[in-house]
Amino acid sequence: SACASSPKVCIVGGGPAGFYTAQHLLKARSDLVVDIYERLPVPFGLVRFGVAPDHPEVKNVINTFTQTARHERCSFYGNVSVGTDVSVEELKKAYHAVVLSYGAEGNRSMGVSGEKLAGVFSARDFVGWYNGLPSKKELHPDLSCETAVVLGQGNVALDVARILLSPWDFLKKTDITQQALESLGASRVRRVLIVGRRGPLQIACTIKEVREMINLPETKADMLPGEFEGIAEALKDLPRPRKRLTELLLKTLKVDEGQQMVDKQWGFRFLRSPVEVLPDADGKKVTGVRFSINTLEGSGEEARALPTGQTQDIECGLLISSIGYKSLLIDPSVPFDPRTSTVPNEMGRVSDTSGLYCSGWVKRGPTGVIATTMNDSFETAQILLKDLDSGTLDPSVDKAGAQEITILLKTRGVRPVSFSEWEKINSGEVRRGEVLGKPREKFLDVKEMLEVAWS
Ligand code: FAD
Repeated sequence: SACASSPKVCIVGGGPAGFYTAQHLLKARSDLVVDIYERLPVPFGLVRFGVAPDHPEVKNVINTFTQTARHERCSFYGNVSVGTDVSVEELKKAYHAVVLSYGAEGNRSMGVSGEKLAGVFSARDFVGWYNGLPSKKELHPDLSCETAVVLGQGNVALDVARILLSPWDFLKKTDITQQALESLGASRVRRVLIVGRRGPLQIACTIKEVREMINLPETKADMLPGEFEGIAEALKDLPRPRKRLTELLLKTLKVDEGQQMVDKQWGFRFLRSPVEVLPDADGKKVTGVRFSINTLEGSGEEARALPTGQTQDIECGLLISSIGYKSLLIDPSVPFDPRTSTVPNEMGRVSDTSGLYCSGWVKRGPTGVIATTMNDSFETAQILLKDLDSGTLDPSVDKAGAQEITILLKTRGVRPVSFSEWEKINSGEVRRGEVLGKPREKFLDVKEMLEVAWS
């Protein structure tokens, strides 16, 4: 087990990247110690706060992460914000290696006027709201309008559209927060338009998510056949996944007579970029979006959207921009590329900084599923192990690890939440859920989480 000269590795962020990096390191070396520092009192990052409540099977990775956290050479320190409570420099002093896996806590902005109007939200905030992210519990989105526009055509955009249109009876059996459930129960949103700047051959979502939209009960697809001109002809040259997705889209164009009576609709709209969010007469609330009408330059995945100079307004009372998450700089001592909003690295080794590594969304940028994050985290762990073997990282230099950091935290009045304390929060949430017939009812408040953890 751990001794004075065992390699001590610190991981910043307890999401998939952090846990997969830890898992790989612990498995590869029987002398290595891993400590995971997480800003929130609760672990698992976007598996808890991103993944849609109606995708419970995706959250099964939590079982593997829990096994890792319970490993005798792994410790979890929740409620510790790196960059605020402790600096990366301090961590580097206390550990042989530091792995940054703190994800992407910011979002890309549309960069148009009216973005701050009431009724305009980033997908990150909206998703955080229905998933119980403590900082978003006061979001209170107004769902009293008929039409919502979702900007962007990736899987997150489809998650948002699906949650807005899902039957309430179905949502109430998921781990969606009770306050979001109540709000959605009173929702008047009947129509969700999912708007992208490019064409049908460039949508960024996967077929599973489109199929889920098509299969929504009491909801029909409302596409504009004119936007699919020439698409059927292009099918034969497409790579297989893209081809199947496009065939499915083309199928939605055929109006199903039996569906005439349904009252809810969803649809893609193409070749539109927002140029302005339109305010109401008081200048307070969104009433629509002015789009530039685009044309495509080039074809396939690389095609670029160019404005034609024409515009079109689409009315809506709710606008959710789902155009990407963005990593933030958490500590000025860490190299950061503001252009890509990632930590510059080679296969997970942070450029020009010894002892510093990165994995997950902060390494690659905010795209890819959990499996992608797993692979890149294993790659980072592999590189770190190589540096230990080659002597680039020298484990014979004595490092105090968590011993040193916990003392620092104590003097700063920061009390970490251990993994067994998280398990108390977890049990509390599961118990609250049982009463409601849900897998769990999340605590929405950090203070409440801490009370349960330390009770
Ligand atoms: P994160 O999951 O964001 O984890 C980062 C962690 O670091 C967080 O816990 C955060 O609190 C912590 N942190 C941040 N700052 C600090 C700090 N200063 N100090 C300490 N800790 C910090 N993938 C799928 O496979 N299936 C899906 O259905 C799916 N749905 C998704 C839905 C949404 C809305 C989103 C956004 C993503 C979805 N994904 C899905 C993708 C998946 O969530 C990501 O691939 C994965 O979570 C990225 O892992 P990460 O560890 O890099 O980041």
